[in-house]
Amino acid sequence: AKRAGKGRFRVFEPDMQVSLRERRELEIDLRRALALRQFRLNYQPFVELEGNNIRGFEALLRWQHPVRGNVPPLDFIPMAEETGLIVKIGEWVLRTACEAAVSWPENLTIAVNVSPLQFKSDNLLDTVEATLKETGLAANRLELEITESALLDDTENVLATLHALRGLGVKISMDDFGTGYSSLSYLQKFPFDKIKIDRSFVVGESSDSQAILKAVAGLGSSLGIAITAEGVETSDQLEHIRSQNCTHVQGYFTGRPMNDAAVADLLQSQMRK
Ligand code: C2E
Ligand code: CA
Ligand code: CA
Ligand code: CA
Repeated sequence: AKRAGKGRFRVFEPDMQVSLRERRELEIDLRRALALRQFRLNYQPFVELEGNNIRGFEALLRWQHPVRGNVPPLDFIPMAEETGLIVKIGEWVLRTACEAAVSWPENLTIAVNVSPLQFKSDNLLDTVEATLKETGLAANRLELEITESALLDDTENVLATLHALRGLGVKISMDDFGTGYSSLSYLQKFPFDKIKIDRSFVVGESSDSQAILKAVAGLGSSLGIAITAEGVETSDQLEHIRSQNCTHVQGYFTGRPMNDAAVADLLQSQMRK
């Protein structure tokens, strides 16, 4: 090992050990990130195709790391999930998102991602109820987005949680539909208000992804469930999903994720129209 100043040693390590050490460092930083106020939320609009109106925004978590800069969610959310930190982080996201949404026009909703661990935690229902009460947000303006992996096993508890949340008046969306173990039977078994079709099926040109998009949108429309097409980036893609039975669109073409100041500007400019 070679001395690298300030009593620290720089040791040659094989790649795997380097990445393990990096992981450990990231985990230590992640444990402190909440207390150090390093998280922010961005908000991405979603648009109803009929009438072309913004109906709400999805809250997307951002971690501003003092050294690494902006760490993408997919680089730290899995770790937050494995370590259980996601529960506290998720509570912060929920509260911050609801606080933001109370200042928007009342017809707009806020969509919040709920991780599988958070969904299965015992106090989810209490947390949601308390957060709505304390922020003053009407329950029907909150949509919780859950992924298929939250639905595996334990069907009875999952159903009980979904029904209890809906009992509060909260809406439930099935996120990233098609990417996991999805079977169309989930749509019948669990009470969803909305299905978000993953970007890969929305922009995928293979006949398989097109068939899945068509089938899910068709089923949603006959079951009376709203369907959001995710990740639309071009006007051609938008025209294409218009020709399917999708009800909503969310993607860079209709609006990128933005900070609260940009949301306020956007809402102002809409009101002047
Ligand atoms: P997601 O829930 O599917 O969110 C949509 C992701 O697609 C976001 O990535 C968004 O920025 C991105 N996106 C939106 N429109 C487009 C588009 O037109 N093209 C492309 N290529 N991408 C688009 P982001 O913000 O990096 O988040 C990634 C994932 O991290 C999210 O996927 C979600 O699974 C997770 N995530 C983000 N925030 C939270 C959170 O607060 N809690 C939890 N549990 N997970 C979160
Ligand atoms: Ca989502
Ligand atoms: Ca999604
Ligand atoms: Ca996705």
